[in-house]
Amino acid sequence: MQPRNLSPITDFILPDVRVAIATIPSRAGQTGNDPENPVSGVLGAGSSSAAESATLAGVEAVYRRCRDLGMRLSRQRRMVLDLLWAEKSHLSARDIFEKLNDQGRNIGHTSVYQNLEALQSAGVIECLDRASGRLYGYRADPHSHLICSQSGRIQDLDVTLPAELLQQIEALTGFTIESYTLHLCGRPRGQ
Ligand SMILES: [Zn+2]
Repeated sequence: MQPRNLSPITDFILPDVRVAIATIPSRAGQTGNDPENPVSGVLGAGSSSAAESATLAGVEAVYRRCRDLGMRLSRQRRMVLDLLWAEKSHLSARDIFEKLNDQGRNIGHTSVYQNLEALQSAGVIECLDRASGRLYGYRADPHSHLICSQSGRIQDLDVTLPAELLQQIEALTGFTIESYTLHLCGRPRGQ
């Protein structure tokens, strides 16, 4: 496994826009302090045992979700889910195949791909269509992304837009906004 670029959790409020960055490692199981904005919390897990157990709880919850949806939880499907929940990043089918094989897991590339497609079409995992191909992630809830223009790395963000802005958009379009995803691009400061 490649060393991760560890960075601290950042949870800050821009004028009227609430942002939480889910990164690795992060405080496990925390769901934010704002009762009106439960998605502003950070998700994720690091290397501590508490965080590991939270990762386990997270993956157990997704196993349950799959069972509720009537999906079979084969050994291969669990491997894919375990890896996505452990990595908490956005990975291609090939990345996932290589990481599992590096861990000595016996799984074929076709099986990895088929499981990812089944999980994403059931709405259990995230799927991003990028020019370079599809990337899969562990979060299926609406969230935003910060894309590094240098490395291409994608970081999950929870951004809450001001209610007034959403109301303006609704008035302009005649739509009721149910969810939104922002794609922000940038480069690390000082580079
Ligand atoms: Zn994501």
